[in-house]
Amino acid sequence: MAQLSPLLKQATPVVVDHGEGVYLYDVDGKRHLDFTAGIGVTSTGHCHPRVVEAAREQIGKLVHGQYTTVMHQPLLELTRKLGEVLPSGLDSLFYANSGSEAVEAALRLARQATKRPNVIVFQGGFHGRTVAAASMTTSGTRFSAGISPLMSGVHVAPFPYAYHYGWDEETATKFALRELDYLFQTVSAPNETAAFFIEPVLGEGGYVPSNTEFMAGLRERADRHGILLVLDEVQAGFGRTGKFWGHDHFDVHPDVVLIAKGLASGFPLSGIAASEELMAKAYPGSQGGTYGGNAVSCAAAIATLDVIKDEGLVENAAERGRQLLEGARLIADKTPAIGDVRGLGLLVGTEFTTADGEPDTATAQAAQQAAAKSGLLLLTCGAYSNVVRMVPPLVVNAEQVDDALRIWGDVVTSVTGS
Ligand code: PMP
Repeated sequence: MAQLSPLLKQATPVVVDHGEGVYLYDVDGKRHLDFTAGIGVTSTGHCHPRVVEAAREQIGKLVHGQYTTVMHQPLLELTRKLGEVLPSGLDSLFYANSGSEAVEAALRLARQATKRPNVIVFQGGFHGRTVAAASMTTSGTRFSAGISPLMSGVHVAPFPYAYHYGWDEETATKFALRELDYLFQTVSAPNETAAFFIEPVLGEGGYVPSNTEFMAGLRERADRHGILLVLDEVQAGFGRTGKFWGHDHFDVHPDVVLIAKGLASGFPLSGIAASEELMAKAYPGSQGGTYGGNAVSCAAAIATLDVIKDEGLVENAAERGRQLLEGARLIADKTPAIGDVRGLGLLVGTEFTTADGEPDTATAQAAQQAAAKSGLLLLTCGAYSNVVRMVPPLVVNAEQVDDALRIWGDVVTSVTGS
């Protein structure tokens, strides 16, 4: 009898029957408050009626029209709509299926356009699991373990993760920019560097927001040396942080934006956006794949964008995010085992540390598992998996945030004994 690979061991052994809004219902009829939202994928909540209807209608019309052969209406409409929300000048789009593929597409574009070999990524960043994307990922050892040789030409600069260094934000930022300049003088000269790839908020790396000064430092260096600034908005985009784009918090203009996850409420779809001038430098035929820009996924994405706008989900993420962050901080204040609580909008991370300041993976995991038993689904993140993250659908309401905080408070007390 066939069985699922042992690799498919879930963080929480729940078999889901169906989802609705912020809730998942398992096969035994138990209701779970889903504060993972599939890592932010179900932005509009599970099975939002408008997204479901749009997909259902599209399935009866056209499922697949490969855009390297024929164009289809949902792809054109989605492109028009994304043009309304993308940073100015980034009006040329290209679609794929997953975040990792969007990263690879941007990597190809950056190398082809600049004719330079190297990319600089930032400590704790996550860009995916395909081999090139994994080579650019440093948010945990498991992503690149056992797959060497990794792609060459990747250099890692520090991210201003102030708590991790034990410094204030300003010191961490100065350090990170100084080290970046040092990289330029040692392993990756500016005229050999094609692009910076950075998440505006480290996602898998522990929900660590960047900052305006750091982003300005990257922008200035990118401009000075002709390096492309690629912002990986796969986890932070589409309202998740309480602004439409994660980088909207930091007043920076990117050259390339990568999108996926929240874009289509769970249907597989990703994309990269750049100026037409830059996009035209990609070599013909080097980009694309069978399923990129699937018509049903595009229809779901169009409905997702409408729902985000019509239901004020960006504003909701900001308000509910504040409530969640404040509540999580109150719980942390009573808990010596919690070293830091941080986030932006509905990306909130609680970092567990031991008495001597070391990452406390065991307590974070125990808390995540205890929460699941109490009906609250959470995930861990961080290079040491010692950060518990809360990333509910953007439709979450005040009462549901209160419910989650109540469960979280009880769980933290029971697990840490504080
Ligand atoms: N970039 C970021 C910032 C992500 O969070 C992820 C997924 N966690 C990816 C890229 C990769 O996306 P996918 O799993 O769809 O390949």
